[in-house]
Amino acid sequence: MTRVFNFSAGPAILPETVLRQAADEMLDWHGSGMSVMEMSHRGKEFIAIHAEAERLLRELLNVPTNYKVLFLQGGAIGQNAFVPMNLLRGHTSADYVNTGDWSKKSIKEAKKYCSVNVAATAEASNFTSVPKQDSWKLDPKAAYVHICSNETIGGVEYHWTPDTGAVPLVADMSSNIMSRPIDVSRYGLIYAGAQKNIGPSGLTVVIVRDDLIGNPLPITPSAFDLKQQADNDSMLNTPPTYAIYIAGLVFNWLKAQGGLAAIETHNRAKAALLYDFLDASKFYTSPVARDDRSLMNVPFKSPSESLDEAFVKGAQARNMLQLKGHRSVGGMRASIYNAMPIEGVKALVQYMKEFEASHG
Ligand code: PMP
Repeated sequence: MTRVFNFSAGPAILPETVLRQAADEMLDWHGSGMSVMEMSHRGKEFIAIHAEAERLLRELLNVPTNYKVLFLQGGAIGQNAFVPMNLLRGHTSADYVNTGDWSKKSIKEAKKYCSVNVAATAEASNFTSVPKQDSWKLDPKAAYVHICSNETIGGVEYHWTPDTGAVPLVADMSSNIMSRPIDVSRYGLIYAGAQKNIGPSGLTVVIVRDDLIGNPLPITPSAFDLKQQADNDSMLNTPPTYAIYIAGLVFNWLKAQGGLAAIETHNRAKAALLYDFLDASKFYTSPVARDDRSLMNVPFKSPSESLDEAFVKGAQARNMLQLKGHRSVGGMRASIYNAMPIEGVKALVQYMKEFEASHG
């Protein structure tokens, strides 16, 4: 068996120990005689799996007790609609900060439900930076302020938490959740599709301050009414049971790594290897402003599209996969989520050196 270095932006690499444990437990979970996939979501076994996953997530992220943790379906794209549906609470507008492709999708969707004030945009830098907070035009009457904390395509990440005063801050953290400690109390709502740092696709994590829910738009589907889901422990409908089980194993793995502060140190070391090399190179370029570079998704380019293509092909031959940049930006992108070992980044940098030497 050959395991590759998988640099996919998502669904993405998972810790090998987690996959092995899942394989061991596939046919018979803890003597139940069943696979987790076969269990009733209302049975005592799955209820324990679900509770443990939530407990670990709360412990790792230090989630305050006045926040609900929900394990839902529908993805982050779903939340782009469910956030305004649940958080408008009688307001008619919301503030959005536009830092790239994922912010744009959130803005487009929110416009179906409310008026959107784009409080700041990174358009002038072609979405290669986060607009400084002193340039934001926040509306004190807004229902909430929405940001995308890490633009998976552009590789732009917030390394600070915006101050939105009394207006709740909402963050799409799909691609950097659990990559470092955060102060959850600074946010009104955090959402994330699971398929990067948490587990398989199909699970969407929502962390929401409990006073913000309970007054949804009347059109809100019950399955995405956050209050109804909170009151039912995310089991108003059948939750994505297997994805929740794997997420629990990933959280356990994260804890064994030393938790989020330790994984941040690891992530910083991996990203530094790559960015230091890019900065020293005259062959490759990295478009993102230094202060706003993502620790998770690292876009870069060679001098030409044909060389980019040759680079990706050569990487494949060395079992380094999914390095092609998103079709909207081209070039390459290395996604180096929590589960990517430093050896993967070292192998990539070594290959980048050799490719530069033979094509530069
Ligand atoms: N937001 C961000 C930042 C993402 O990276 C993604 C997926 N790559 C999405 C939203 C969409 O997530 P989903 O496909 O789970 O709806």
